[in-house]
Amino acid sequence: MFKPELLAPAGDLTRMKYAFAYGADAVYAGQPTFSLRSRENGFKNLDDLAEGIAYAHARGKKFYLTSNIIPRNVKVESFQKALLAAIDLGPDALIVADPGFVGWIREVRPNAEVHLSVQANCTNYLTAKFWQGLGVKRVILSRELRLAEILEMKERLPDLELEVFVHGAVCMSMSGRCMLSNWVVHRDANLGACDNSCRMPYRLYANEGPQVEDYREHEGNFTLQRTDRPELDPIALDEDTWGTYFMSSRDLCAIEVVPELIKGGLESFKIEGRTKSVYYLSQVVRAYRMAIDSCFEQINAGKEPAISDESRRAVTYLDGRGFMQGFLKGPLPQNYESTHMPADAGCVAAQILDYDEASHSVRVNVKNPFTMDDKLELMTPAGMATCPVESMNDFRGGAADRLNPGTEGRVFLPKNVKFDNNNAEFSFFVKDFPQKSL
Ligand code: SF4
Repeated sequence: MFKPELLAPAGDLTRMKYAFAYGADAVYAGQPTFSLRSRENGFKNLDDLAEGIAYAHARGKKFYLTSNIIPRNVKVESFQKALLAAIDLGPDALIVADPGFVGWIREVRPNAEVHLSVQANCTNYLTAKFWQGLGVKRVILSRELRLAEILEMKERLPDLELEVFVHGAVCMSMSGRCMLSNWVVHRDANLGACDNSCRMPYRLYANEGPQVEDYREHEGNFTLQRTDRPELDPIALDEDTWGTYFMSSRDLCAIEVVPELIKGGLESFKIEGRTKSVYYLSQVVRAYRMAIDSCFEQINAGKEPAISDESRRAVTYLDGRGFMQGFLKGPLPQNYESTHMPADAGCVAAQILDYDEASHSVRVNVKNPFTMDDKLELMTPAGMATCPVESMNDFRGGAADRLNPGTEGRVFLPKNVKFDNNNAEFSFFVKDFPQKSL
């Protein structure tokens, strides 16, 4: 049985290192101008890419170059020039969406491996076969597919590698080719400048009751009703202090589907989110690493695979819009019901910067306020464990009961707590994290 690859986003070199530390087999990253992530992208030049590729290869990992814009004429030549230079750095594959560029790469660099981007919307086996015929090694499947459709594609095309999204934000429209961001803020999603317009708050001034004269005074819970289709159920809307997020779908979480995807022979499981924090990235990669490893082992041992509660716990309490299994298995393809992380869900308290053996203490970058009384867990690539604190110093070096976000501090560990200095820079303190998943 084939063990699938765990593929993580790398918004910059730091995120790439965390992804590998927590168990990713491969990362995807691209230049701001030519991949679909122009903002918050740390791979600014060829030197950054070369460093990332070398770091990955030194650890036996893979680095895929995302080059999936849909360029206009004016950008063709600069894109070609940039691609040739990037291909010469030796990435393991190029993720490409534009058919012209797939053909051109196959012509000028026939040895370069090409993966078809999700942006190309491959939704059936005939299309996948077409791309395979053009020399594409792997197809990244459209997120709008049902599990059964994906498994059928694998069965029909056993020699074509298939990559499937398992976690992260989803578009409210068909993945790729969306014009919403162009319309709302004049930023082209197909050139990597998506503003996430569908995920932003919108305030509404109508409610389900009788129309009132000055409806703007009636904030609270709302419903949306199609006026042309009164037979349809109203869509319930609620607001937080920013407004309502009525176009923002819940995030995809396919952790429960991992056993079926492994059994189906899928080659690569992909996590979305090149702009997410290193803490979010570390927890998600950790969760899917545990899930893939344990399910693979159980299947090979002839057992019925099950997802561990620790895998679920790792993805349950992360910032986001709540989860769904999306088009894979969910009763609804997308889910716009507003849900948020429970208020008592815990959070990252601090990112550990380094360890001082002499004082058995760690220097931390505080992300959320925490006190000596908070229930802290130490999270490292080896796992999460309760970690009592002996004492703390604030950024001035004085004793402190509480550390505040945006500052550095020092946390002293009890003598009986062992600290793995090799992983110091990839460790976190997590605060009040529930022991069980929801
Ligand atoms: S605006 Fe929303 S649906 Fe459109 S590309 Fe951006 S994230 Fe996707």
